[in-house]
Amino acid sequence: MIKENLRIVEENIQKACDKAGRDRGEVTLIAVSKTKPVEDLMEAYDAGIRVFGENKVQELCDKMEKMPDDIHWHMIGHLQKNKVKYIVGRVDLIHGVDNEELAKEINKRAEKAGVVQDILIEVNIAEEETKFGIAPDKVEDFYVNISKLPYVNVRGLMCIAPNVDDEEKNRRHFVNLHKIFVDIMNIMGNNNRVDIMSMGMTGDYRVAIEEGATMVRVGTGIFGARNYQGGFTGHGNDE
Ligand SMILES: *Cc1c(COP(=O)(O)O)cnc(C)c1O
Repeated sequence: MIKENLRIVEENIQKACDKAGRDRGEVTLIAVSKTKPVEDLMEAYDAGIRVFGENKVQELCDKMEKMPDDIHWHMIGHLQKNKVKYIVGRVDLIHGVDNEELAKEINKRAEKAGVVQDILIEVNIAEEETKFGIAPDKVEDFYVNISKLPYVNVRGLMCIAPNVDDEEKNRRHFVNLHKIFVDIMNIMGNNNRVDIMSMGMTGDYRVAIEEGATMVRVGTGIFGARNYQGGFTGHGNDE
């Protein structure tokens, strides 16, 4: 089933790229495997997937140990400061950075580990009260501030659009994220490498790609529905 799902997702990505006149190579598919067993991840791996996204540090580290070494891991969930030390230098990208304390902690741990950690700024693009992320009008200032940290490399932006029945409803949010992305690319003549826009999930990755996403994070569309014990508030939260 996972293999067939991946074929469909791949087909949709290609169609969205064609529609937008984009090259398929511009878009990275992140297979969001949270809550799923290693066997499922291996099925995706055997079908060619090498980029996985998880939203809990413990689960991420467990799976990292059990899976092959050529995988690129992404931390896509909200990250607690005290858990930064477990993943810095081990994940390719930390998607959900939305406060200075967290950025400073990543910087500190990266220096200790002798690496420069790639991160994304999470933007609360629809200004939802329940969501994490920097307010759209505060992103530029936040970017300028954390860009000064020498062991952190801000590669771009990430957003979680609202949960909607029709993905067209999220198009304007993706358009808005793209505008902010262009703005921060132009700050400081883009001395830093700002080149990633992580937006689009199972319900809206096609539209996100049409509006310029360079990374899409697809979970349910690949692995099927998730079973949660306890409350699930809509997106990743490392509590
Ligand atoms: C769970 C999750 C996804 C994947 O969601 P699906 O709707 O299952 O594709 C993407 N991004 C983040 C941050 C998530 O927590």
